Amino acid sequence: MPNITIDGKTLEFKQGQTIIEAARDNGIDIPHFCWHPKLSVSGNCRICLVEVEQMPKLVIACSTIASEGMIIYTDSAKVIAAQNAVMEFLLINHPLDCPICDEAGECKLQEYAYNYSVGESRFVEEKVHKDKRIKLGPNVMFDGERCISCSRCIRFCDEIAEDPELTFVQRGDHVTIRTYPGQEMDNPYSMNTIDICPVGALTSIDFRFKARVWDMSSNKSICVGCSRGCNIDIWVRNNEILRLTPRHNEDVNSYWMCDHGRLNTFKFVNAESRIHYPQIRKDGNLIEVGWDEAFSEAVSRLKTFPKDQIAVIGSSFATCEDNFLTAKFAKNVLSTGNLDFIRHANPDFADDILRTEDITPNTNGALLAGVTPFQAGLDINGILKGIKDQKIRALYLIEDDIVQKFPELESSIAKLDLMIVHSSNFNSSTNYADIVFPASTFAEKHGTFLNGFGVLQRIRPAVATSELDRALDGMKMSRLDKFGTKFDSWASGKKNEARPTWKILVSLSKALGFKMKYTMGEEIFNDMTASINEFKGLDYNVIGESGIQIKIKKNNTVKTG
Ligand code: SF4
Ligand code: SF4
Repeated sequence: MPNITIDGKTLEFKQGQTIIEAARDNGIDIPHFCWHPKLSVSGNCRICLVEVEQMPKLVIACSTIASEGMIIYTDSAKVIAAQNAVMEFLLINHPLDCPICDEAGECKLQEYAYNYSVGESRFVEEKVHKDKRIKLGPNVMFDGERCISCSRCIRFCDEIAEDPELTFVQRGDHVTIRTYPGQEMDNPYSMNTIDICPVGALTSIDFRFKARVWDMSSNKSICVGCSRGCNIDIWVRNNEILRLTPRHNEDVNSYWMCDHGRLNTFKFVNAESRIHYPQIRKDGNLIEVGWDEAFSEAVSRLKTFPKDQIAVIGSSFATCEDNFLTAKFAKNVLSTGNLDFIRHANPDFADDILRTEDITPNTNGALLAGVTPFQAGLDINGILKGIKDQKIRALYLIEDDIVQKFPELESSIAKLDLMIVHSSNFNSSTNYADIVFPASTFAEKHGTFLNGFGVLQRIRPAVATSELDRALDGMKMSRLDKFGTKFDSWASGKKNEARPTWKILVSLSKALGFKMKYTMGEEIFNDMTASINEFKGLDYNVIGESGIQIKIKKNNTVKTG
């Protein structure tokens, strides 16, 4: 490999790399506003100027190709003077309104003002004023005065979303951003421009002014909006999720996520419709009861059905661990082979960027976990027919909404003798349930999802339930669990009694006379590695923060159901 020298260190680089790329691969961060590893080079912000021996002038690191033997300085007197000058120019017309800016605390301009500027301005004239609070589209607000004209947002729409919507208008210090006439920035990925805007010029209409960045904790997780499984950070204050942002994973979602995933996949966690306690139907109404009463009601009623009249429906919304125990529960505890899960396909949702036709996070995981018919039992179509023909009399439904999915079956479902539902929120199916167990959401438990392309990934709790609080007290982990989940913001806020599905099934199985030994999701996963070939040799630490590719038979993106 060829070598370059940066600030006295000799480093290897790949032929064809620019100086900024070569430096980055070697752990050296050259300051940059307009450059982004996934966008074309525009070279307009000039903060990445570096000095190269034998070159007459400073060069921009983002567009200068590294060559063998180059000797580069990123912190010479000339470079520092250039950085100071660039920062002085950029700040001349900037409103310096950090105290009311959403970006404060995660703003490149703020960070570089500390690191690369002299900290004072010689400009005493009136600043140029530009339009503020311009709605570029349904999800993104623009503040012209904060914009430093880096063009990242324009290039994102052109090159990544492949939907040219933004352009520069005007000239000189009056230059600003606009959508093309008659157009909105409404592409399905528009909110990524907020993440890559290096200043607070683009903000989220949904999140604006909700919290300061430093008042929230964030935990690494996975979006549940489709089978891509985009890597995300969940941002929480006072035990309430306030936003999701994409987390870089080159093998899954690069730096991006779609607006649907960002906006529509977390609000149910803190919604009014959350189920806080177990429920039993009495005199036609669901009544809150304690866990013991709900378990004993479930035991006494489940025992009255022959096994061929019972069906269990697992869920591609639930984790591998939840589905693994669902399968065990059906086979070993209820002794029914009528076991499957509902497929959720939406061809209109899919695109060639990230979004997939399967709008659930874990179809492949549910399949590998064994949520499939067993010993000549019924598959999902057979179960639905059995409900319609009133041959299935008891339905055990895990984390799905069968009535919403199959409204034509509503009257048959209403005639079931028993329906037990695990659900985080009241929905069309809980309307007909006899017993409801409150289930933890993806944001309240540890577990794994296997995405549509065979990448096994972990979710972690970001929001506390009473159950998690108790488990943590028991583990004496003082606000940091063994996987590094941060609980800084868990001290206050509303908590509910939801439990992970696997935990509910462990308790119910015990009450039905079948003991399962699990006390943590991790133990279930370790058991899965013994019985599922594809998971052999894995554990939560091996899966880590970016997941692991495993071999699956095919991309099980769903077509039926
Ligand atoms: S709005 Fe942000 S991303 Fe777009 S040009 Fe201005 S500073 Fe750059
Ligand atoms: S592409 Fe799918 S997984 Fe990614 S953010 Fe959108 S809905 Fe979520």
